[in-house]
Amino acid sequence: MTGVTVETLREFAEQYVREEPSRLGTDGWWRTPLLATAPVDERFSQLPEIASPDHLHPHDLLATAKSVIVFFLPFKKDLVRGNKDGDRPSRNWGLSYVQTNDLINRLGAALGDLLEAHGFQSGLTPATHNFDEVKLMARWSHKHLGHLANLGRFGVHHLLITPEGCAGRLGSLVTEAELGDNPLIDTEEACLAKAGQECQKCIEACPLDALSERGFERRTCWEWLKDNLATLDYFSDLPDTTHVCGKCAALMPCSFNNPVASL
Ligand code: SF4
Ligand code: SF4
Repeated sequence: MTGVTVETLREFAEQYVREEPSRLGTDGWWRTPLLATAPVDERFSQLPEIASPDHLHPHDLLATAKSVIVFFLPFKKDLVRGNKDGDRPSRNWGLSYVQTNDLINRLGAALGDLLEAHGFQSGLTPATHNFDEVKLMARWSHKHLGHLANLGRFGVHHLLITPEGCAGRLGSLVTEAELGDNPLIDTEEACLAKAGQECQKCIEACPLDALSERGFERRTCWEWLKDNLATLDYFSDLPDTTHVCGKCAALMPCSFNNPVASL
């Protein structure tokens, strides 16, 4: 069976995200989503090297997979602006994390259902907490999948910078459908510092000095995310997986777009 293209999936994702605020009865947290695809080719063999040694291959999710689909849900600017001040994340940052995880999981499943209606099986993993708690590395890293599918490029903050910036969340799935290569980023780098420009903004914004041009102190960051959940009264009604901070994505030059594209 045929008839499903990247345009079909992009339109479906856009409509799905557009309808989410009325489902929740709120204004919602999201701008228009992005979606990129890549064929399951040799590039994905690098995952154990570039992500984590036990990272799964797309064929581990679905032996017959022919394509990887990665989508990005960019946050509205007001939400990101509201998380700028102070060292601790805002209540809305925590709430949006919870609601975005749920949206990512349902959107991934809905994309899978759409593909199945066209005769193609899919394989999915959850939006988050699919990682090794000791090594703090994901066995299925949406970020690295997005990097390989050319949805974005890594910044100094170790977030993926897409054409709609880094402030948002990623989801991914694999499918039997042959969707081809549909990249969205067209610059070699999307981080100003990595492109040789002056920018240390994310490094300066980190409350714990977890970031530097040389690397990312994963453990330091993780302890801070857990501390936020344990400390903040206004997170007390949120799930015990609400591990957030987001200061390195708040009003950075790369928060809402790819700053290298306009150099
Ligand atoms: S804030 Fe600057 S240095 Fe940090 S990731 Fe964004 S562009 Fe790169
Ligand atoms: S999420 Fe927070 S603690 Fe972690 S690197 Fe970014 S600013 Fe630092």
